[in-house]
Amino acid sequence: MTDTDVLTRPAVLILLGPPGAGKGTQARKLETHYGFVQLSTGDLLRAAVAAGTAAGLAAKAVMEAGGLVSDEIVIAILRDRLAEPDCAKGVILDGFPRTSVQAEALDALLAETGQRINAAISLEVDDAAMVARVAGRYTCAGCGEGYHDDFKKPRVSGTCDVCGKSEMSRRPDDTAETVASRLEAYHAQTAPLISYYAQKNVLQRLDAMGDINEIGTEMRRLVDGATA
Ligand code: AMP
Repeated sequence: MTDTDVLTRPAVLILLGPPGAGKGTQARKLETHYGFVQLSTGDLLRAAVAAGTAAGLAAKAVMEAGGLVSDEIVIAILRDRLAEPDCAKGVILDGFPRTSVQAEALDALLAETGQRINAAISLEVDDAAMVARVAGRYTCAGCGEGYHDDFKKPRVSGTCDVCGKSEMSRRPDDTAETVASRLEAYHAQTAPLISYYAQKNVLQRLDAMGDINEIGTEMRRLVDGATA
């Protein structure tokens, strides 16, 4: 490996954390700041559900119940998306991997292209606060900017601060009952990845209970260190 390889290699960042920890919000900020591509398997699956593909049909009921979609489906979707040319700019994995099988599949995919994980950032939050965070959130249907009934209201009620559109949408799985199942799935299947990445020496822990912009600043400090 030469210095040039290191410099030209696209960054790979992983955001770990339970539903409501702010992975999507922070991934969007990183995308804007660094030009990396946000890869959200939740978004990819929701697009597959909306398009009525075979993967989408298989995933729909599981997602509505707050469970995890099969590793086979998710890995296939991620592999296809990673192969698209824009991912050469670097990627922020938001919501993937969520199981040890997915983590190992990611290692194998990256090994094929000679890439490595720069950082796996664990957004650490208080579980009890997550239900309120998730149950109150909604996004602009135009640009995807995220808002919250209590914690992040648009400047003009019902109008997106970023793109000015006034159509907002709420995810069907953002209900108190489904969040409980999603938190359970996180603790049972995803939280063990924190030690998986600690052993690989790429884990960064971040207190994600505070102000969104301050967390964003801290996140950039971590990413600058991990991609230098
Ligand atoms: P998210 O948008 O990341 O909260 O994901 C929404 C839902 O999509 C999850 O509750 C799961 O049902 C499914 N999902 C997203 N990513 C994965 C993944 N990596 N593995 C399994 N299921 C996933």
